[in-house]
Amino acid sequence: MAALDVMPASSSADPRRPLQNQKALVTGANSGIGEACALALGAAGAAVVVNYVSHPEEAERVVGLIRDQGSEAIALRADVSRENEVQAMFAEMIKKFGTIDVLVNNAGLQQDAPFQEMTLQQWATVIGVNLTGQFLCARDAVREFLRRGVVPAVSRAAGKIICMSSVHEVIPWGGHVNYASSKGGVMQLMKSMAQELAPKKIRVNSVAPGAIKTPINRTAWDTPEALTTLLKLIPDQRIGEPEDIANTVVWLASDLSDYITGATIFVDGGMTLYPGFATGG
Ligand code: NAD
Repeated sequence: MAALDVMPASSSADPRRPLQNQKALVTGANSGIGEACALALGAAGAAVVVNYVSHPEEAERVVGLIRDQGSEAIALRADVSRENEVQAMFAEMIKKFGTIDVLVNNAGLQQDAPFQEMTLQQWATVIGVNLTGQFLCARDAVREFLRRGVVPAVSRAAGKIICMSSVHEVIPWGGHVNYASSKGGVMQLMKSMAQELAPKKIRVNSVAPGAIKTPINRTAWDTPEALTTLLKLIPDQRIGEPEDIANTVVWLASDLSDYITGATIFVDGGMTLYPGFATGG
């Protein structure tokens, strides 16, 4: 085939369901961005595992919404920072769904403190969930991708991993050094995995949200004063919605992005464009 010939973008027969016959797992999928990703992957035709660590009723609500769209879904509990719980979750997924094609490493949290007051517990908890959790889930997903290999009727890749990063993989964040360090770590975890695994047809990318309206950052948007302060940081002049992230995740999971690996897509309304310099600096 000549270099400029166009390859079929997706192996799915229905372009509205580009993830038909694929199995996806979204961590922290009973709230916010993870919930939106799980719903969007389901709408794109994937069978979805809705991972949660607390509030099973919220996970079952998301499962019900995915089933209403005509896709399979199950809820599985696991704390992503615990190796044995992650391994049990993947074993259960493979038992129920047969395999995994898409992992969305989304679970994350903040435990903020001034630097001199930050406890080791706060540091370790945030690194444990946001960074080690992504390592543990990615490792089990990659083991299954390698075991199964490429199935051309399903996807051109053996597997796709999408890491939920943050603009704070590049923007330093005082008062949140554990969080910014975890996301800086996610950047190198993602890129190093992408480099190592590309020859095996495993794609690894990140989505880096700016300010998205979810429970994690409620104090930044739930009063008019807070929102006005926040919008000074966003050239697009609006706070993001979870669906802004979910749409990008579905595209990264699909064959439409088959030649993309090792990339961070910033979905941030321009937050990383140094808006303070817009008027000359
Ligand atoms: P959220 O609080 O609504 O969702 C976080 C999810 O992670 C919840 O479902 C929570 O239960 C889950 N979780 C936490 N600890 C867990 C654990 N140990 N095991 C399994 N699940 C766990 O917040 P969100 O905004 O939807 O955050 C989702 C991701 O997006 C996080 O990684 C966050 O860092 C990232 N992010 C969010 C924003 C934003 O503005 N909202 C910006 C940048 C990055």
